[in-house]
Amino acid sequence: MPQTPTPREIRRTRLNQAAAYGVAIGAAGICLAFRLLLDGQFRGDVVLLLFVPALLAAAAVGGLGPTLLAGAISLLLSFGVFGFQTLGEPGVAVTVAVFIALTVAIGLVGSRLLHSSRTIREFVADAQTREAHLQSILDTVPDAMIVIDERGLIQSFSSAAERQFGWVAAEVIGKNVSVLMPAPYRTAHDGYLGRYITTGERRIIGIGRVVVGERKDGTTFPMELSVGEMISGQARYFTGFVRDLTERQAAERRLQDLQGELVHVSRLTALGEMASAMAHELNQPLTAAASFMKGCLVLLKRKPLDEDRLADMIGQGADQALRAGQIIRRLRDFVSKGEAERGIENLPQLLEEAGALAMIGARDRNVRLRYDIDPQVKLVLADKVQIQQVALNLIRNGMEAMDESPRKDILVGARPLAEDMVEVYVADTGHGIGPEAARQLFQPFMTTKANGMGIGLSISRTIIEAHGGRIWVDPNPGGGTIFRFTLPGVRDEELMDSQHD
Ligand code: ADP
Repeated sequence: MPQTPTPREIRRTRLNQAAAYGVAIGAAGICLAFRLLLDGQFRGDVVLLLFVPALLAAAAVGGLGPTLLAGAISLLLSFGVFGFQTLGEPGVAVTVAVFIALTVAIGLVGSRLLHSSRTIREFVADAQTREAHLQSILDTVPDAMIVIDERGLIQSFSSAAERQFGWVAAEVIGKNVSVLMPAPYRTAHDGYLGRYITTGERRIIGIGRVVVGERKDGTTFPMELSVGEMISGQARYFTGFVRDLTERQAAERRLQDLQGELVHVSRLTALGEMASAMAHELNQPLTAAASFMKGCLVLLKRKPLDEDRLADMIGQGADQALRAGQIIRRLRDFVSKGEAERGIENLPQLLEEAGALAMIGARDRNVRLRYDIDPQVKLVLADKVQIQQVALNLIRNGMEAMDESPRKDILVGARPLAEDMVEVYVADTGHGIGPEAARQLFQPFMTTKANGMGIGLSISRTIIEAHGGRIWVDPNPGGGTIFRFTLPGVRDEELMDSQHD
């Protein structure tokens, strides 16, 4: 960027030039002193050689002008002191001519070098200013910035990253970036990088995703990660920008976006209204059924027994009870099947997002969320929103069950089963479920929580069964509960490619 010099810079340049002419005169003087000192040791035609250092000194500090001055002074002093008649001696005239040519050449080279070194100095100063500017921007943006090289080794770690992950830059620079991820990404990340470099298949690079990060103290948090790629010379670098979604403001903004996606939220709100309408609607068939029963009682006491009427009344009572059942079924259909859009979904990604969503607002709970997804598990045939709703519900239930537990670990896993089915499980280390409660767990309105509605698990069961799977609960051997459900898997790998195209 060309800049107009300030008056101070102009003054400094003039002073430097004056100093360079001073050096030229001084150096020529010193060389003359040597010449006098060594008088008689040289032939007349080589004495001028003694003045070459003066030329070099003048060229180094001032370029062409001072070198010419040093050359002229050298000639004048040399012949002024020893008499111009020496010019006539054999070879001296040629030496003078060579000396003049040398002076011009040294001056030109000096000028050129000075110019280059000035350009380099300016370039370095400019680069330093830009770097300081960039650094100050990076230090102030709330997003963390982490640069890694091709092998995944951390090259730079911004102050926001230090705040978010609890590591000091000096501790992590040079380490593998996987230290910032929970299992199983910790071990799989090198593979992801390698695959991208060899095949160009993108998972996060240039796309951005909601994933889980791990702090130095082992706690995990949801984060939004976007990664850019940079090629510098032969080397390739990746820059990750990380936004901590637990930070309230960001989380609220993100939540608002996600609410649009998660249709179930509005469905659940509607469910409240639906429940009161349903109570009203149910009242009718139930009252009617009760009246038929009472009528039957009256008929039973009459002699002789009118069996036909009795049978008719019992039949009508049963019809009313069935109508009540239909009303309840309608409610379940409304909540679960609504606008089911079943498609081929990436199960690990679906579960990661559900986990990250469940972690929003759970920062104070100190829960540690980990994944254990079998690499063979990839695609399932499912309605993404509905299955995320089930996973989210199970993870939230798990978190709530661990409020009083010393160990707060949630493990979300998936493994392939026979016949193309996939099993997903959510294990917690909470208070567990007694055998009595376990029996009615999936019944609607069964809850042990003060503010619970008791419909989460019943809806989850309807959703999973509508997908052709099943859901059940097991005790966690180490304490706590494991909820498991199955889904139909999709085996054909090509399907995934066609989705990415
Ligand atoms: P809600 O959470 O509104 O109570 P749910 O249908 O999701 O409704 O859960 C029903 C009940 O099942 C809960 O009230 C709780 O008693 C029990 N429960 C669910 N998940 C767990 C779990 N992971 N650990 C222990 N109990 C659980």
